[in-house]
Parts: sequence; C-alpha cells; structure tokens
Amino acid sequence: MTTSNPFRDLPSVDALLSDERVRALSAEYSGDTVIALVREELDATREAIGDGQPAPVLDVIVEAIEKRARAALTPTLRPVINATGVIIHTNLGRAPLSDETIMAMTNIARGYSNLEFDLEQGARGSRHTHLEEQLRRLTGAQAAMAVNNNASAVLLALSALASGREVVISRSQLVEIGGGFRIPDVMAQSGARLAEVGTTNRTYLRDYKAAIGDETGALMRVHASNFKVVGFTASVSITELATLAQEREIALIDDVGSGCLLDTTQFGLPAEPTPQASLEAGVDVVLFSGDKLLGGPQAGLIVGKREMIEKLKRHPLARALRMDKASIAGLAATLDHYLKDEAPEKVPVWRMIAMPIDEIGTRAQEWADAAGASVSIIEGRSMIGGGSLPDEGLPTKLLAMPTNGGSAGGALARRLRENDPPIVARIERGAVLLDPRTVDPREDAAVIAALKSISS
Ligand SMILES: *Cc1c(COP(=O)(O)O)cnc(C)c1O
Repeated sequence: MTTSNPFRDLPSVDALLSDERVRALSAEYSGDTVIALVREELDATREAIGDGQPAPVLDVIVEAIEKRARAALTPTLRPVINATGVIIHTNLGRAPLSDETIMAMTNIARGYSNLEFDLEQGARGSRHTHLEEQLRRLTGAQAAMAVNNNASAVLLALSALASGREVVISRSQLVEIGGGFRIPDVMAQSGARLAEVGTTNRTYLRDYKAAIGDETGALMRVHASNFKVVGFTASVSITELATLAQEREIALIDDVGSGCLLDTTQFGLPAEPTPQASLEAGVDVVLFSGDKLLGGPQAGLIVGKREMIEKLKRHPLARALRMDKASIAGLAATLDHYLKDEAPEKVPVWRMIAMPIDEIGTRAQEWADAAGASVSIIEGRSMIGGGSLPDEGLPTKLLAMPTNGGSAGGALARRLRENDPPIVARIERGAVLLDPRTVDPREDAAVIAALKSISS
C-alpha cells in the first residue's frame, strides 16, 4: 500500500484549460489572462497542500478559477460613502470635487488639448500658463505654478533654492505630516542641509539671526497644521521672518500646508494661515496643497516672486513632478469657484463646512427612522482633517448605533463596509457613529437602504 501523493492528484494546466467552464472564460478574457488565472489557482492550491490541506476535486478548483476571474475585473479602487465626519480624509481620497471640476477634467481627458501648445502662435507653449493667471489673481502673487502635490512642491522649492546649502528652520516645525512624510527627510532628499534653531516649544528671532551665515540658502517656515503646541511657547511671526530674510537677502519659503483661500472664522473655525497673508507679509515662495481646504484635485501649488518661480520652472525636477492635464483642468475649474465668489456653495469641502446644523439634524433623523428603534441621535463634532485645524472641529449631529460592546461595534462597522457602496463609519467607545455632514445628500438614499437592510 502506498499513500497517494496529493500533488500528483492535481489536474494539469492543460486539463483545466480544456474544461468547458474554463474555456467559456475566453469569451470575456484574453487567452493569456485565462492561463494566468489557472496558474495562479494551481499555485495557491499547491501552497495549501504544502500546508497540509487535502487536494481539492476538479470542480472546486474550477469554481475558484471562475471566482478569480470575476475578481480580476473588479477595480480595487472604488467609491465609498464617508460617514466618518472627517471632511478631508486622506485615506478616503481627501477632497471630493465639484460638478464643474469633474466636467472640466472629463472634457480634457477625453481628447487632445492645447496643454503645451500656444494656439495664437501655433508653437510650443507651457502647461503652467493654464493656472498662473488665476493663482496670481487669487493670491496677489507675481508668479505661480503647480506640481503633483505639496510634498513635490517642498522638494522642488528646496532643490531649486537651497540645494547644497543650509535651510534654517525652527525645531517646532520639523513635523511629520502623516503617512511617514517628514519634513526633515524631504529636505535631505533635496540636498539642502537642515539648520535647526530654537527648541520644540520656543524659538526667537535671535535664534534665526544667529544661525544665518555664508552657508545659508533659505529660511523656511512649515505650518504645523496637524498638532498644536500649547502652554509655554514662543514663535516668530511670518512678518518678522520676512523682514529678516529681506535684510539678509535670503529666500523665505513658507509651507502653509492646506491651501486655504477663504477666511475660516466666518464658519466658526479658528483662523488658518492663507497664502495671500504670507505673500503680503513678504514671503518669497508659498507652498500649499490642492486637495485639502482648497477642495480641488491633488496638486502642489507654488506662488511667489517671479524670479524664484522662474527658477523652479526651469529646474529638472519640475519635469519629474509635473501635473497631469486632467488635474490641471480640474484645478482651474475649482479656482474659478473662488474667482466667482461661489466656493462655499460649489466646492464640496466648503459646502460641508458651511452645512447648517439643522439640515444635518434633519438628515440624521431620516437615517434614524430607517435604522429602527434602538438608535439615537447625539451631539458630536465633525473634524476638518487632512492636517488642517487640529482638534477644533464643527458641532454636528451623529446617528449613534448601539452595540453590546466588545467586538460588536467592529462587526457592525464591518457590515456597513460590506455594503455596496461601502459605508465607512466612526467607532467611538464601542458605538458606531455616522455623521451626515461628510455624506453628499445625493447619497442619503443609499445610506437609508443600507440601514434598513441591516436593521431588518
Ligand atoms: C499636507 C501637508 C503637506 C503634504 O502635502 P501633500 O499635498 O499631501 O503632498 C506638506 N506640508 C504641510 C504643512 C502639510 O500640511
């Protein structure tokens, strides 16, 4: 008696390819894709057998191949409903875009465009022309350009203005923005050397003065947007820094983080630094994101003095970090909302910030009616997120779904994520909370349907 070898019991690739159910896949998938799916399944099966599992019968293997085939055409990147109440949620794709922005992006993505073509001269043009005038008008800058994101903008500005030299920066501003993005690491990549001044909680103008020398390439300020130093603190204002930079004839770079063009105090939020204010104070180059409080597509915006921006445009990295045409079109459309003074109504991020609490309460009640008797509506706070305006938030109404504690909250949150489209909720102290503020009212029907099916 010999024990059978489970590996030898497996069907061959050819045997599987001639199975009629596998052959039927060729109607939808290329021959190479079908072969790849069969091989993947056989590899996975061999691995399972190696781990001590018995060899599956042919039907089981074929069904697994069919399942693989279905998954192969399902995009991993899918729309989700953000019920977390975090408006600029980096893990959920940051700013949703206005209808006008989406239309502009589609329009340019569909065909050819004058991306780098001067229609008047019939000659080569620059992609920077499409955003420069708007950015100049909105911020009062002499010149402007845009790159792929704000991390790119920091890298480009430091590379072009301070490579091989020192950049003087306060210790309190050597921050990690999130996702492991650390200002000191980006500075190192640019070839600029860090000259840290002051302490974590206190930095004075005299610290900057003492650090400036022959090796200094630039002064830099980074808006510590995702945390707050409270208590015994001292920092140097951007106006004082600009005056110092001008006296010593050194460039001053200001990373304001979130590209906030509006006065946040009108929405009951604390003041957030604006690019306009930095330029007015005398900063040479201001950097900010396109997809945080600006509410547009992913981008890094750079505004400032003409000769410095020209230097950045000519730097070889500018080519490596350049923006895609559809994003340029989208950003231009988003900037139009600010030029037309309609951002609070049209830009989704601002619409969410400006959403009246009564409207949120009414929607929460509609959700509660669908969810059944056990839920309640509680007071809470929506967060701005994206490293903007830490811990402030806005008062909101939350739908609270009770759980029996333990892992029940996690199980309920999982059921919401398994919905189509997935709904992402917040779990606090075991309760599952849903915030209507970050959900587009056009998605309410989908939320209500999901709550009904879960409660039934
Ligand atoms: C978010 C942020 C960045 C990174 O911007 P991205 O657009 O995500 O690359 C850089 N600096 C500050 C201060 C930020 O808040």
